[in-house]
Amino acid sequence: MSVTIAQLPTTFSSPMIASKLPDVGTTIFTVMSQLATDTGAINLSQGFPSFDPPQELLERINYHLCNGANQYAPMAGVPVLRTAIAEKTNRMQGRDIDSDHEVTVCCGATEGLFSAIQTVVRVGDEVIVFDPAYDSYEPAITLAGGITRNIPLSIDDGFDFAVDWQQLTDTVNDKTRLIIVNFPHNPTGAILEAADLDRLADIVRDTDCFLLSDEVYEHIVFDDEPHRSLLGHDELWARTMVVSSFGKTFHATGWKIGYCIAPKYLTDEFRKVHQFATFSINTPMQFGIADFLSSNPEFYEQLPAFYQDKRDYFCGLLDGSRFKLRPAHSTFFQVVDYSEISNEADLDLAKRWTREMGVASIPLSVFCEKPFTGRRLRFCFAKDDATLAAAAEKLRAL
Ligand code: PMP
Ligand code: GLN
Repeated sequence: MSVTIAQLPTTFSSPMIASKLPDVGTTIFTVMSQLATDTGAINLSQGFPSFDPPQELLERINYHLCNGANQYAPMAGVPVLRTAIAEKTNRMQGRDIDSDHEVTVCCGATEGLFSAIQTVVRVGDEVIVFDPAYDSYEPAITLAGGITRNIPLSIDDGFDFAVDWQQLTDTVNDKTRLIIVNFPHNPTGAILEAADLDRLADIVRDTDCFLLSDEVYEHIVFDDEPHRSLLGHDELWARTMVVSSFGKTFHATGWKIGYCIAPKYLTDEFRKVHQFATFSINTPMQFGIADFLSSNPEFYEQLPAFYQDKRDYFCGLLDGSRFKLRPAHSTFFQVVDYSEISNEADLDLAKRWTREMGVASIPLSVFCEKPFTGRRLRFCFAKDDATLAAAAEKLRAL
């Protein structure tokens, strides 16, 4: 006879769980996507494309899936993929990377970020993040026993977000173990100028502080600006772990495959964590991506133009609406100011508009430690034109 849980005697006691993350709820991306599904709203909240990865890439993965690449990959990633990542990095950033000792394939950027944080953060260490900060950083810091120090990005002209270097200088102290930066920036689309990298180098020089650079939107920068990676800067590279994701680059957020590039002494320690977080990443995907990365560099080279067209199309559709905006400098997100339409708090409004108006978005305040009173929402424009047009029609009517 099978015994179901419901039939167990109720007298068994269960231990109390003291939450390790008492202040953490379900991530806003899951909350808003679920609400969009439940209400049938157009989902411009969670960032994922409405189109497929390139056909040739799918064929390469399918080939490896059907031709024996189905057992464990090496812990650090298959050598051909690590080599392809190193070659791409060399082409794009002029950095000569040792693919054997400085590249690790990860289970999406999320695992790369998590493992990187566990690698360097010890109990009582301080970690600086810039608000609005992507929501996976702080829980990983807390689980490592670290203390998060939030610095708000400054806002120029109401639209351009940037690091306040003076505030960073004032915040760094003997306990600062790590600074996490994320440019191209989700959710604001901010990017770094060349002088910013020098300012950062001035601040961390003569400290014991490492840098973690979340560069998942490395190939989505607009208006002919380059992506300025921290690993392109000699002095910063010596203390930086750069994390990226193929999810953004290949329109494949569900694949959860990314990588961490760091100097050998950091990669050695990073791999000690990574190997027990996940051990290795799915094998046919790694071989397929390696083939495609090497044979089709034009795919990621044309990504800025592809997404810039989408940005311009979406922003053009909002012309004549009561939203105020400045076209994003990067990423596939557009932040808009809704202060002429409503004074409601952004989280409440995002949920209400999903239910009542039929378009889901992401509020910015959830990424900020201090109350963020700006009336801003983030829309994802990685969608086919018909979806963007249908959403914009509703937004223009507000
Ligand atoms: N960092 C940022 C800034 C992101 O926007 C995302 C999500 N898309 C991630 C990390 C996580 O990437 P992945 O889906 O590859 O884990
Ligand atoms: N990075 C995606 C976004 O910003 C969401 C990722 C996730 O849902 N965890 O929308």
